[in-house]
Amino acid sequence: MKGYMLIGGKKVYKQEEIEIRFPYDNSLVGTIPRGDEKDIEIAVEAAKIGYEKLKGMTAFDRAQALQKAARLIASKSKEFAELLTLEVGKTIKESMGEVGRAVNTVTLSAEEAKRIFGEEVRFDAAPGVKNKIGFFRRVPLGVIGCITPFNFPLNLTCHKVAPALAAGNAVVIKPSENTSLTVIKLAEVLIEAGFPPEAVNVVTGYGEEAGDALVRNKDVRMITFTGSVETGKIIMSRGGLKKYAMELGSNAGVYIDKDQSFRIKEIAEKVARGGFALAGQVCISVQRVFVHEEVYGDFLEEICRFTKTLKVGNPLEEETDVGPVIDKGAADRIVDWIEEAVRMGAKVVCGGRRLSDTLIEPTIVKNVPHEARLFSSEVFGPVILVNKVSSLEEGIKEINNSPYGLQAGIFTNDLKSAFKFAEEVECGGIMVNEIPTFRVDQMPYGGVKESGIGREGPKFAIEEMTEIKTICFDLS
Ligand code: NAD
Repeated sequence: MKGYMLIGGKKVYKQEEIEIRFPYDNSLVGTIPRGDEKDIEIAVEAAKIGYEKLKGMTAFDRAQALQKAARLIASKSKEFAELLTLEVGKTIKESMGEVGRAVNTVTLSAEEAKRIFGEEVRFDAAPGVKNKIGFFRRVPLGVIGCITPFNFPLNLTCHKVAPALAAGNAVVIKPSENTSLTVIKLAEVLIEAGFPPEAVNVVTGYGEEAGDALVRNKDVRMITFTGSVETGKIIMSRGGLKKYAMELGSNAGVYIDKDQSFRIKEIAEKVARGGFALAGQVCISVQRVFVHEEVYGDFLEEICRFTKTLKVGNPLEEETDVGPVIDKGAADRIVDWIEEAVRMGAKVVCGGRRLSDTLIEPTIVKNVPHEARLFSSEVFGPVILVNKVSSLEEGIKEINNSPYGLQAGIFTNDLKSAFKFAEEVECGGIMVNEIPTFRVDQMPYGGVKESGIGREGPKFAIEEMTEIKTICFDLS
């Protein structure tokens, strides 16, 4: 499949191309152009025209176009899902799930397009002010740069582009170089649904080249980024004065309380699913599990039993549960981190074998010390660590012992413990009797500490993607 850039509605090809390969067997899926600074400049100029054209669309028109886009994505579910599996390596079941969520995210954005509100400002509440009446409105920013990661190229791009368009902003998207073909297809759908072609641009290419040029462009009013902490920090140091939304990584933790023995099997299965979905390459994958000593042994036994039933292999086959990681380099790093933890005293209790360049068995490791990267950093692979703790307080302390703070979970029957956990754990989202991997697309989603800045979920993304404009009338 020969990919192209979409700039001002035109397909743009380049001599120099980047190959996209199927992570399972490294076969060629397609190519994309290697866009550069010049392409970004042209795309931003097009987006400025797109922004002006969007002013001609009412909130109703924008909502209608987004509804139509949602229907179009749904009608092409199978095509999108197959492409997702080929580019990302996620299983076909997971790809179908992502397409369904993308339809929902675009529909939610359509609904939100109709309720972007301001409110009255009481000017006469200041001393001596009379005969002044005013209000504020939420207005679009103009051109927004959207930089997206490889793991959910469809739904996470929808989380940026659909709210941006709902609010009347034009976009330039720089998708992950691993998974750009899905994003090109999405942009075509949005244009087909009725948005001005100049309002939806895609420039493919490398992060340090096309991505960096987008970040530095003075006419781009906001960068909405999802990706790693390292890249997020570079972007914020390079972009200068503009708005930023940063959806970054994590090493999500969950605590299992001593009163949970009656359903330890069910929790173990949930935790394993949360750690091994998309081969652990979800920003809220369960990575660190802290289990009360009274139920620790049973939990470990159950999670290993279930993990061994998972079928690892070709993501195109219906029965596969766990597919490959994105590339050989990622697999090398993951294996290296497991070996490091073992050298530091941890023990692999199940899995741990590398089956090919990119396939790693779902792995459970116990007694992982704080100093091991498996504990302190984001592993982004099919590895869960299970450590023993002796109290809720210790569980909270362990979960907070992280540079990240995206989501966390607790399993308990004790209301006070649940509340204490929710109060004291430093994260953007707390799941009670649920794994931290749980997310619905309308909820406010985002992190604290190094997990990011700002919130997504269409209602909240629209707040980030609009500016407040105050308007005051003197009636004296
Ligand atoms: P990445 O940071 O390597 O790349 C993300 C995007 O940034 C890509 O499009 C890349 O080309 C671009 N990029 C790289 N260097 C750049 C630069 N200097 N300037 C501008 N753009 C640049 O991330 P990835 O490997 O694609 O994705 C995995 C990471 O994303 C993980 O850390 C994961 O936790 C995180 N993530 C977070 C969320 C969330 O919502 N919080 C969701 C999904 C993934």
